[in-house]
Amino acid sequence: MQPLLVFADQLGRHVHSTALEQVGRPVVVHEPTSHAAADLVDRLRRDGLVADVLPTPTFALSRAEFTQWAGDRETFRMEDFYRAQRTRFDVLMDGEQPVGGKWNHDHDNREPPPKGARTLDVRGPWTPTEDDIDSRVRADLDAAGHPTVGQDGPRLFAVTHTEARTALRHFVRHRLAAFGPYEDAVLGDDWAMAHSLLSVPLNMGVLHPLDAVHAAEQAHRAGAVPIAAAEGFVRQVLGWREYVWHLYWRFGKGYLRRNALRAHAPLPDWWADLDADAVTANCLRTALQGVRDRGWTHHIQRLMILGNHALQRGYQPRELTEWFATAFVDGYGWVMPPNVIGMSQHADGGMMATKPYSSGGAYVNRMSDHCHDCAFDPRKRLGDDACPYTAGYWAWVHRHADLLAGNHRTARAVSAMRRLADLDAVLDQESARERF
Ligand SMILES: Cc1cc2nc3c(=O)[nH]c(=O)nc-3n(C[C@H](O)[C@H](O)[C@H](O)COP(=O)(O)OP(=O)(O)OC[C@H]3O[C@@H](n4cnc5c(N)ncnc54)[C@H](O)[C@@H]3O)c2cc1C
Repeated sequence: MQPLLVFADQLGRHVHSTALEQVGRPVVVHEPTSHAAADLVDRLRRDGLVADVLPTPTFALSRAEFTQWAGDRETFRMEDFYRAQRTRFDVLMDGEQPVGGKWNHDHDNREPPPKGARTLDVRGPWTPTEDDIDSRVRADLDAAGHPTVGQDGPRLFAVTHTEARTALRHFVRHRLAAFGPYEDAVLGDDWAMAHSLLSVPLNMGVLHPLDAVHAAEQAHRAGAVPIAAAEGFVRQVLGWREYVWHLYWRFGKGYLRRNALRAHAPLPDWWADLDADAVTANCLRTALQGVRDRGWTHHIQRLMILGNHALQRGYQPRELTEWFATAFVDGYGWVMPPNVIGMSQHADGGMMATKPYSSGGAYVNRMSDHCHDCAFDPRKRLGDDACPYTAGYWAWVHRHADLLAGNHRTARAVSAMRRLADLDAVLDQESARERF
C-alpha cells in the first residue's frame, strides 16, 4: 500500500490523533518546520500513528545534512554556509570555482534608488487571478470569525505550484536584473521594487528553492542577467533562507525568550493595530501601510525601518516576533525567531549577527526617497522636526553604551555619541516623544 504523505505542520494545525486513527494505518509525514509540529509528530510516532518522517521538501538541505556540515562548529558564519551550499548543490559554479570568479557580489547590490525616480523602471510583479477557491476561502474565513489584522484585498502571491512557476518565470525574465543592484533600495511609490515575492510559495512548499535558483542561474548563463543579480538572488534563497531555517533548530525553543538588550516596552496601539495613518514619518508610515494593505513589505523595510524603529524604542522582542508572524503573509514559526529575535532586535546577544542593525535617518535618506518631503529632517536630532530615527539612534546608543563600546564594530558610535554637546536634550526629547 502507498504511504499517505502529509505535511506535519498541517497536521499540527488541523488534524489530531483521532482523525489519524480514522485513516486506519500509520502515515508518512514530511519533517515539520516548527518545534510545536515536531513535538506533535514525535508524540504521534510514539503512538504508532506516524510510520516515518521524510526530509522536508521546502528546503534544499535536510536537517541531518546540516548537522553533518556543522560538525563541532560553535559559530556558523552565513558566508561559510552559503559557499558550502553553492558547492554542494553545484549552483553558479565552474568546477570548484564560483562563476564570475567571486562568491560575493554584495558590493554591487547595495545601490541607492536611481536619482529622481519615483519607481524602478521594471515590469511590475506577476499577480494571480482570483478564482472560486479564493472566494470560498474568503467566505470560510469570514464565517469562522477569527480575529484578523490589516485590510482585505486581492491576493498578490502565488499559492499553487503552477502559479509559483509562472511567478518565478516572470520574475527571472522581467525583474531579476534590477533585483541585484536595488536589493536594498526603497521607493515610496514602488511597493514591490524588483523583489521576487516568492517567499509565500517557497514557504508553503509549492516552489522548491533549487528550482528558483536554477532558473536564476540559467538566466545568467544565457546572458540575460548579470552575475551580481543572479548571485544576489541565489544568496537570498540558497544562503539566507536555508541558514535561517537551520539556525531555528540549532538555537532551540528557548531562543524566543531571549532579550539580551532588556527591551520591555509594549508595542504601542498604533503599531499593533496597523494604524499607519497615525504615523508622521514617511518611511515608517509607508512600511506600516504595506503591512496593513498587503501583509508584506520588502526586506529593508522589515529590517531597517520597522525593525530599526522597534529596536530603538525597545519593544519587547517576543511580542514583536508574534506581531511579525501574525501580520505578514510569509510568517512561519521557523522564519521569525532568527529574523526578529536575532537579526533585527539583537535580542540573542549576537548569536546570529555580529552587531545590531541600528541606524539613524542618514541611512534611510541614502537608500530611499522618503526623506525629501518628510515632516522630519534626517540631519536633525533636536527640535520639532528632529528625525525619530536619527534622535532615536543616539538615545539607543546611550542606553546600550557599555555593550556597544565592547564591540569593535560599534565602539565608534559610542565615542561619537559622547562628543554630542546636546545629548542630554536629545535624551529628554526622545523619552517624551509621542510623534513618530
Ligand atoms: C524582521 C524581519 C522579518 C522577516 N520575516 C520573514 C518572514 O516572515 N518570512 C520570510 O519568508 N522571510 C522573512 N524575512 C526575510 C525577508 O525579508 C523576506 O523573505 C522577503 O522580504 C520576502 O520577499 P520576497 O519574496 O520578495 O524576497 P526577495 O527579496 O525576492 O528574496 C528572495 C527570497 O530570499 C529568501 N530570503 C531572503 N532573506 C531571507 C531571510 N532573512 N529569511 C528567510 N528567507 C529569506 C526568501 O525566501 C525570499 O523570497 C524577514 C526579515 C526580517 C528582517
